[in-house]
Amino acid sequence: MNRLLRILIPTDLAKGLWLTGRRFTQVFRTANRRKVPLHVVEEYPEVPVKLPPRFRGRLQLLRDEQGEIKCVACMACVKICPTQVITIEGGKQEGRKTRIPLRYDFEMERCVFCGFCVESCPFDAIILNDQFELASYEREDFSLGMLGARQNMFEKTPVAKYSVADDEV
Ligand code: SF4
Ligand code: SF4
Repeated sequence: MNRLLRILIPTDLAKGLWLTGRRFTQVFRTANRRKVPLHVVEEYPEVPVKLPPRFRGRLQLLRDEQGEIKCVACMACVKICPTQVITIEGGKQEGRKTRIPLRYDFEMERCVFCGFCVESCPFDAIILNDQFELASYEREDFSLGMLGARQNMFEKTPVAKYSVADDEV
């Protein structure tokens, strides 16, 4: 009898519709109260997406105010990386007291964007930037360095392998 009643009077369906309707009107009411345009969907790629501040994109090396590369090749990021995608060759450069990475290679195809490398860096020399459009048909494009020949490290473009020799070109 109960089962028959439930079939004849679909209370679950009515409950679902009522909840959906209530949520729908809530969204409109909130937007109206805050006097903000109702923006339900992202219009990417026409409109750039606003990423959350803690978004983890491509690894990027940073320079200090003097334009010097901040990394001192301490290898902390290399050791902590769970997928072993960072390779650094440290060395000295004339006129600089600390070590520098003579080579800093990053195999992005195996990076899991965990952020351990950034957290472990004692010199705040690397970030995971907000670059997320990282698709490519070429596998070599994922073997990034932080600074390629004639490339600016601050540019968020994937670059060739980093080397001091390239940097000085
Ligand atoms: S984000 Fe994680 S996986 Fe990627 S390079 Fe850093 S430590 Fe390695
Ligand atoms: S942890 Fe920082 S300073 Fe050390 S090698 Fe990595 S990027 Fe360079």
